[in-house]
This record gives sequence, C-alpha cells and structure tokens, in this order.
Amino acid sequence: MKSIPQFWDDTIVPTLVDYIRIPAKSPHFDKDWAKNGHIEAAVTLAADWCRKHPVEGMQLEIVRLPKRTPVLFIEVPATKGAEKCGTVLLYGHLDKQPEMTGWAEGTGPWIPVIKDGKLYGRGGADDGYAVFASIAALKVLQQEKKPHARTVILIECCEESGSVDLPAYLEALAPRVGAPALVVGLDSGCGNYEQLWGTRSLRGRAGVESLTRFSPHHEVCMAGSTLEKVRSEALRLTQAERAELAHSLVGSLDGPADTDAESAWDEEILRRLGEIDAGTAELIDREELRRRMKARMSRA
Ligand SMILES: [Zn+2]
Repeated sequence: MKSIPQFWDDTIVPTLVDYIRIPAKSPHFDKDWAKNGHIEAAVTLAADWCRKHPVEGMQLEIVRLPKRTPVLFIEVPATKGAEKCGTVLLYGHLDKQPEMTGWAEGTGPWIPVIKDGKLYGRGGADDGYAVFASIAALKVLQQEKKPHARTVILIECCEESGSVDLPAYLEALAPRVGAPALVVGLDSGCGNYEQLWGTRSLRGRAGVESLTRFSPHHEVCMAGSTLEKVRSEALRLTQAERAELAHSLVGSLDGPADTDAESAWDEEILRRLGEIDAGTAELIDREELRRRMKARMSRA
C-alpha cells in the first residue's frame, strides 16, 4: 500500500463504483430482498474485496441467522504489545435507501458517476465506504508499524430498516466481540468537505446503549427478574460495569425520541453552518473553548 489516497483511488473507488450499481435496498424497501439477491451481492462484493486486501491476522466471516439479512464480521488481533488495550468495534452497513427522485441529468441511484472528484450514486457514502475505510485505516497502521488494539468490524445489512436484524446478531456475536472499549459508528453525516466531522451523540441523545449491549453481564437486564434479584446481581458487577449500567438506566428514563427536537436540531445545525459560510460566526479553536469554559466555571 503506497498511501491512503492512492490505495483509495486504486482499489476502493472502483469497488464502490461496482457497489453503487447493486440495488441493495434495505429489506423495508425490498420485501423480496432474499429472492432478489442484491443484498447478497453487496455483502459478497465487500467480503471478496477484504479477502483480496487482507490485514495481518484478519479473520472474515459472513454470518447468517435464519430469515435475517447477513452480517459481515471481521476480527483483527491486536498488534504485539497492544493486547491489553481492549477491543475497538467498527460499525457500518451495506443496505441502501430506496431510489427516491430528484437525480440530476445523467445521474441516478444505480448509476455511478464521478464528477469533480466526487462519486455520485446510492450507497457510496451511506454507508458502503465504512468497511473499506476500516480496512484501509488498519492497513496503514500496520504498514507504518504503529500499534493498534484488537479490532472487530461489524457490517450489517438492515440499517435503513431500523436495524431490526442487528440485536439478534449482537446477541449471537457477543461472546466473539467481547466488551468493546470503543465503538466507532462509520455512518454519520458532514456539513462540508473542508473539515473532519465527528458525531459525539445522536441528536443530543447519548449513544452509550450500543456499548452496554456487549456487556458480558447484559443478561442481568434481559432476565425479566424481580427488582431485588436484578439489584443484587447488578451490585456484584465491577465498578466500571456498574457505572456503565447506571448510565444506560438514566438514559432509559428519557422516554422516546422527540422528533420535534430532532428537526429543531437539524435546523439549528444548518443555521450555524450558514453563519460559518457567511463569515458572520466567530470560530475559535478547541483549546480556546476549553480555556473560556474553565474561566466561566471558576467564576460560577
Ligand atoms: Zn447509514
């Protein structure tokens, strides 16, 4: 591998071009997905690419539970000396949203078009790139002899249908995943191409639940036991596990997601982006923000 941009252009973009041609609509938009075989074609394309560009120690499997969309499951061991760093879980999906309308002349959901260095078509960014980006990241670390933790890549095929198949896979694969120290969801959006964007919460609602699902003690929450039994079992957990449990319990008291709040957040994000574009917003760097926050807190 020469460099990430080179590797991306030489091997990933051509594969994403092939992937865009596959109408791998999520089961919610293609009731006959199993018969039509497009999801199968997408997951096979991704798996074949990974086998062709393996990272050190990689183990790959397409996991299939009956009557559910498949999951691409990849395990990569920690590099020497990083065995105690825990497990990093990288998440993505290969199912797509439906065709929809409004495509520009010459473009379309299943027609890959590269224009001004950008690849257009359904699913390239949401979320086909995830597995390729994950492998490329590990590859460059290994090439530069930089250490990395044990990494598990989990690519589902049901995300655009509300991930209804995912819990069953999380349950089935929990012993193989272990308790991840970090979960990275490669499935967010970005407001421009000038900077790196990260999502730290899901529209203001913490996403810690996905971490707790893998807890080896998660059966505590699933048993439907009486309060006393659950409480005494919970108190036997380690301090870190109790903290994690407390966090998810508090989160569960929030009630269902407030769609009004979500769209208000979307509007607010667009408004702030508009201010940045118009040059009317004052941008400050992170260190300065921390300094100002500390100053304000010490005043309070
Ligand atoms: Zn997505």
